[in-house]
Amino acid sequence: MITAVLPTYNRAPLAFTSGQGSWLTTEDGTRYLDLGAGIAVNALGHANPELVTALTEQAGKLWHVSNLYRIPEQERLAEALVEATFADTVFFTNSGTEAAELAIKMARKYHYDRGAPERTQIIAFEGSFHGRSTGAIAAAGAEKMVKGFGPLMPGFTHLKWADHDALRAAITDQTCAIIIEPIQGEGGIRVVPDQCLKGLRDLCDSTGTLLIFDEVQCGMGRTGRLFAHEWAGVTPDIMMVAKGIGGGFPLGAVLATENAASGMGAGTHGSTYGGNPLACAVGSKVVEIITAPGFLDSVAAKGARFRQGLEGLVAAHPKVFEGVRGEGLMLGLKCLATNTDIVKAGYGAHVLTVPAADNVIRLLPALTITDDDLTEAVKRLDAAATEVGRTL
Ligand SMILES: *Cc1c(COP(=O)(O)O)cnc(C)c1O
Repeated sequence: MITAVLPTYNRAPLAFTSGQGSWLTTEDGTRYLDLGAGIAVNALGHANPELVTALTEQAGKLWHVSNLYRIPEQERLAEALVEATFADTVFFTNSGTEAAELAIKMARKYHYDRGAPERTQIIAFEGSFHGRSTGAIAAAGAEKMVKGFGPLMPGFTHLKWADHDALRAAITDQTCAIIIEPIQGEGGIRVVPDQCLKGLRDLCDSTGTLLIFDEVQCGMGRTGRLFAHEWAGVTPDIMMVAKGIGGGFPLGAVLATENAASGMGAGTHGSTYGGNPLACAVGSKVVEIITAPGFLDSVAAKGARFRQGLEGLVAAHPKVFEGVRGEGLMLGLKCLATNTDIVKAGYGAHVLTVPAADNVIRLLPALTITDDDLTEAVKRLDAAATEVGRTL
């Protein structure tokens, strides 16, 4: 018999009832060190007191009014994001998937309004993940996501990872945009080298193609910069944000330049919930904390420290792990043993990690994780690796 909850998830047999910082507690009081942070969502840890205050203060005033009216909390958050990034304008969504939908619409509308309605083709990359709507699965294209759900939204070209010749050849007079994660998350913490992001920018500039960065997972301070693309010194035309920006409250956004967004006038897009006062009050506090002086440097320092510990772990378990990849606190352990076996062994050692494609386990702790917790993390991962190593 089907479960009351639609059985689309492969869930671990764990249920948590409270959280504090980087720790989650089950009903029976067992504490787990959380290195997944709700898949890079709880960027400032569980029950962060400043976020609790921001949420509860707003909850006592006003939750929702719809976008029929001005929403000062939304304007404040948009202004903070415009101030801190390449963007001139922001649209708020409730998720990364919805951000993908708007990014696609905005890019197509841009060319349509410039007398090039044939420019609808969007180039995406193998191993990417942009969400689960029909548009977002068509964009990513992986068989495991699209099989059985056709006909898919047309207009996507999928290229192999890092095949520069194929990329140049794929750009035609029908190309609308290129969509790419500066660091693939679901795809296995695969970092696009800086020179490739620069090359993409040049290619887009010379062909009039829009560049869309999907920073839903790698953005919001995760790599030690507010957005991952900042390391490469290039900017996109359109960017998708979600996950960390709400610190656990559902919130997403599309950031864009004035030029890229020029076709999106009144009536071209909308959302009932998107950018409501509750979500934006929390989002503003998240942005305020992450952009405060010293915060991003501390993420980079923690990332370097954690990475060093993980390199030691790889050296100590050469049959279990192959190497460490990633940037800042978006790290991946490339496995030789089966990644899901190590994640499961982690449950036994009371440490939570997230599997990804390419036989990688993802480590995406709260950006506020303490040095002591990072030390403890390496210890517990070592215990999990020892357990798995015994069976090899
Ligand atoms: C999670 C994710 C999405 C989808 O976000 P949802 O909030 O789950 O809709 C899109 N792109 C990337 C890179 C993601 O990691």
